[in-house]
Amino acid sequence: MGWITPEGPGPIDLSKCVACGLCLAVCPTYQLTSEEQASPRGRLSAMAAVGEGVLPMDETFEQVMEFCCQCRACEAVCPALVPFGTMIEGVRAEINVQRPSIGTRLRDQALGRLISMPKLVSVGLRAAKTANRFGLPGMLGGLRSDPPTIVRGVEFDPIGEERGTVGLLVGCVMESGFSQVHVSTIEVLRRAGYRVVAPQEQRCCGALAAHEGAALDARRLAERNKAAFEGVDFVVADAAGCSAHLKEYDKWATGWSAQARDITELVAEEIDSGHLPVSATRRGPITVQDPCHLRHAQRIVEQPRAVLRAAGYDIVELDDLGLCCGAAGAWGALNPAASKALGERKAALIRSARSTLVASANVGCEMQLRAHLDDWYRIAHPIEFYWQALVEDGR
Ligand code: SF4
Ligand code: SF4
Repeated sequence: MGWITPEGPGPIDLSKCVACGLCLAVCPTYQLTSEEQASPRGRLSAMAAVGEGVLPMDETFEQVMEFCCQCRACEAVCPALVPFGTMIEGVRAEINVQRPSIGTRLRDQALGRLISMPKLVSVGLRAAKTANRFGLPGMLGGLRSDPPTIVRGVEFDPIGEERGTVGLLVGCVMESGFSQVHVSTIEVLRRAGYRVVAPQEQRCCGALAAHEGAALDARRLAERNKAAFEGVDFVVADAAGCSAHLKEYDKWATGWSAQARDITELVAEEIDSGHLPVSATRRGPITVQDPCHLRHAQRIVEQPRAVLRAAGYDIVELDDLGLCCGAAGAWGALNPAASKALGERKAALIRSARSTLVASANVGCEMQLRAHLDDWYRIAHPIEFYWQALVEDGR
């Protein structure tokens, strides 16, 4: 039957893979299973067969596609430039339409609708934080316990000469669960001369909905955010999954023209151009964990390191080609055994490094690392380490 919606990958993309196998070393699901059907190459060949109508869209196909954690590591190393991220999102959307189930409908509701209701998310996170005092399983065990600082609907003046306006994407869980990241982002950007606005009308960026194939919800959220951020110079996100999705908003929102940036990218530029300071204090080693949607989806590798070096830290690298930590949005909850195996692998690597400080630029990765590491590890966003250094230096 092939595809029945406009979301399914087209024949040009489906024919791009030359089966070279270069992606196998970076694919977490292939690394866990050694099975061809859990590899990018295997998934692409299954997509082509179903897209051409040679094979049916059956349960096996659905399982093969759903086991992909959408880390996009394959895309980053592919010499044939296979746009795997867009393709798998399209296939997920096709599966949702062709093989509807109560499970996928509930998931679409949760990731496309409920998560875009800030009050509901806030109540849910408060309950989860309380429950986590007794220890929640999986990634939820990595929630922060500090109380939220509300920034939605607030405008923050620049310090010194005004150089532009940044719209801050507040996100779905960041404001209630990880608001110290936003506070650090705002304070650093103000010191770079930016007015920071966090429009009340904005909603979740829609990345989770897009990844799960809830294309209509992803479009609705993107359109809403396009209107909310009208007129700003940059839209900045301080979670890599969100900034990666914002950069692809021209696919989701008609006429999207705002410049989307990850916070590490913008701040590294401001440090480089002398608008933000470099600390003279040496603060010792720090381990850097690269979120997939920063390293693979956006190819941002150097910028978080530059920010941390400017904060006075010496970078400790994890020598694993940026293999996914197993958080991966909703995938971690739907594939707990694989998520745990990847989380343990990453935690073991971090333990073998020589620092108890870990910088991670994505909220999901942070939770996953905290859930797998001992309490004496401090895991925070690079912008938090940088802001803390400015405060300590009296800037
Ligand atoms: S690296 Fe690209 S071309 Fe090579 S097997 Fe993987 S997806 Fe196909
Ligand atoms: S997106 Fe990640 S998990 Fe999926 S095929 Fe590519 S490398 Fe493997």
